[in-house]
Amino acid sequence: MEYVNVILPLALPQLLTYAVPEDFLGKVLPGMRVEVEVGRKHYRALVYSLQDEAPQGFVVKPLRHVIDLMPVVTAKQLELWKWIASYYMCTLGEVMTAALPNGLRTTYKPRTETFVRLHESVQSEALLEKMLNTLSRAKKQEKLLLDFLNLTNGVIEAAVPRKMLMNSSGASAATFNACVEKHIFEVEQREVGRLDRSAVVTKNMPVLSAAQQAACEEIQTQWQAKDVVVLHGITASGKTEIYAALMAEELARGNQVLYLVPEIALTTQLIGRLQQLFGNVVGVYHSKYSDEERVEIYTMIGANEAFPEEPPLRIIVGARSAVLLPFVKLGLVIVDEEHEATFKQVDPAPRYHARDTAIVLAAQHGAKALLGTATPAIETYSNAKSGKFGLVTLSERFHPVPLPAIEVIDSISMRKKKRMDGLFSQPLLTAIGEALEKKEQVILFQNRRGFSPFIQCAGCGYIPQCKHCSVSLTYHKQQHALICHYCGYTERLPGNCVECGSANIQTKGFGTEKIEEELQRYFPDARLARLDLDTTRAKHAYRRIINEFETGQKDILIGTQMVTKGLDFSRVSLVGILNADNLLNFPDFRAHERSFQLLTQVSGRAGRKERRGRVLIQTTQPNSPVIRFVQQHDYHAWFNLQLSERHEFAFPPYVRLIGVNMKHANEAVLQQAATLFKKYAGAVLGSRLFGPFPPVVPRIQQKHILSFWIRAERQDNLPDLKKILIQQFGQLRIRQGWSGLEFVADVDPV
Ligand code: ADP
Ligand code: ZN
Ligand code: ZN
Repeated sequence: MEYVNVILPLALPQLLTYAVPEDFLGKVLPGMRVEVEVGRKHYRALVYSLQDEAPQGFVVKPLRHVIDLMPVVTAKQLELWKWIASYYMCTLGEVMTAALPNGLRTTYKPRTETFVRLHESVQSEALLEKMLNTLSRAKKQEKLLLDFLNLTNGVIEAAVPRKMLMNSSGASAATFNACVEKHIFEVEQREVGRLDRSAVVTKNMPVLSAAQQAACEEIQTQWQAKDVVVLHGITASGKTEIYAALMAEELARGNQVLYLVPEIALTTQLIGRLQQLFGNVVGVYHSKYSDEERVEIYTMIGANEAFPEEPPLRIIVGARSAVLLPFVKLGLVIVDEEHEATFKQVDPAPRYHARDTAIVLAAQHGAKALLGTATPAIETYSNAKSGKFGLVTLSERFHPVPLPAIEVIDSISMRKKKRMDGLFSQPLLTAIGEALEKKEQVILFQNRRGFSPFIQCAGCGYIPQCKHCSVSLTYHKQQHALICHYCGYTERLPGNCVECGSANIQTKGFGTEKIEEELQRYFPDARLARLDLDTTRAKHAYRRIINEFETGQKDILIGTQMVTKGLDFSRVSLVGILNADNLLNFPDFRAHERSFQLLTQVSGRAGRKERRGRVLIQTTQPNSPVIRFVQQHDYHAWFNLQLSERHEFAFPPYVRLIGVNMKHANEAVLQQAATLFKKYAGAVLGSRLFGPFPPVVPRIQQKHILSFWIRAERQDNLPDLKKILIQQFGQLRIRQGWSGLEFVADVDPV
């Protein structure tokens, strides 16, 4: 007998075992999809492993059905899934759900299209001639046939899509149907891909500057000794071109390349550049793609029934989940903007860090990894300094333009001098005016979308809160609504205060939407664009906004984090940061790290090609060391300061953090459970366990939350420690009445 252990798309902690029926003996392999019964329900499951011995203690059901002839998940993928599940404390089922496009988990329908060809009764020159003669009085049909022959260039057996024929001919459906009835045409359904694979190479590889060439060679030298190299290159130093050169070498070796980016929606420019250089071997794995499109890309990366020999996609650009794709010949993994927090998945599980997972993936394949950024993450840079990773530095820009001049504006003293109007200081307004005068472009950064963070009743001070979360609602003017940025709860803007009935409701603070409105009042003729979550929901909205700005149809781009990431515009001379305090004051141990990275990155958008750019930072904390080091472009000084703070307060890289959130709808139960957890887990973990403490938002979607931190020391055995935690969660949960208790573990939180 043969048995298989399968992964189910459920949050089950264990695998389930089934017997392989007679008919399928010897044909079932790990990585194949099967259908199984659990209780009375049928599920699609994935074979994880095989075993010969019957499991003891229960009756084994047979598999109902085997779906695949060849595995859809490779042995390497399964190995990586196992690593993710154990490192990030989740189930294999949760990893599978993240890894497989939905279309592979349920039903994938190939797309078909109607094609038209000549009916066999006219498939020769002579027969065609005869047919055309009989059509001399059916002018419309004659024209349609001639149009068809024109499209096929006279190739007798050729077929063309019906849509293409009808569009080019302009014939009616009736005419077409008549031709089919007369046995002039016949139609057939063909499977067609959903992906646009028409990209062709239009550009030569860029010639690297001497500095780029040296960096490139240095990276390769360091790869001989180390699998992971960090490329610390200042903004506009031309990292992308170095990546391209390295990619070209991998392609020449017949290898695949994974190019991870923080957010795929923001990479329109980049993908265009790569397709010009490499054509249609470039594939993009995009969360905004349909399921079917994702299945197609998945299929074109791996070895499978469709492409048993050579996968058609060689360079895969994707965000986080692209590390989970079925690579067959991976030679290089590039993680661009490796410091970005979006590489870490927050919700739902698996809460994996794509950069760190990519390093594991590369090691599995014997591939090399390159982590590129102008502002390395603290952990990354300390790994480079300790010698665990290689380090290559590129400290000159490709175009010989110095880094921008950064001026800090003290918004408190501006306000005292009455030189501050709302969120705009006089110097910033003057600078914007000057830039517009010179027909240069401006980027304004504010890390808050919406119109204003909240509204407040002037009568009684009431601030509307989310019903499900303990946060105030954000006012969105265009939608005329109050929206919760945690759960999406939306209500109409009240006309009167729900507490005291006063009609005097005021907006407080500034979001991107409000900035856009105010700015228009100062500069009525300026053409403004806004880039944030609200304006980029539609599939191509981001591309359109970027394109309009790039081609000079807009003068000022106002945006959130989105404007900071890797954009390359040549006409931007001024960048304004409206309120750096929002960043600096965020209650998180990474707040200063994020602030430095964000401010440096957004500053790097100014003056990239021609003249030196200018950056204005408005803040109430002009003397903050973060601001000072950003101003001085001094990564190293800032890194050393950060490192000493991390040491003092026992944060990574000096310890490894696991965040634990306990959730329950009933606050009293939660309190009680937290107290017990502290007692029992604390007995084992000692001073490693810190908490409970309420998180920044202590109630989300009707559930109360208490948090803990586990600080693992360098010499701790991490797998053991995680096992202890999972045991403790389980024991608390099975206590009567506490089945609703949830534990969310976040390993290496960012
Ligand atoms: P980074 O990613 O380091 O911020 P980019 O790769 O966007 O920088 O390069 C900055 C600008 O310089 C881009 O417009 C890019 O096209 C140009 N550039 C960089 N290297 C080259 C090169 N070797 N040849 C031509 N243009 C280059
Ligand atoms: Zn009121
Ligand atoms: Zn909410």
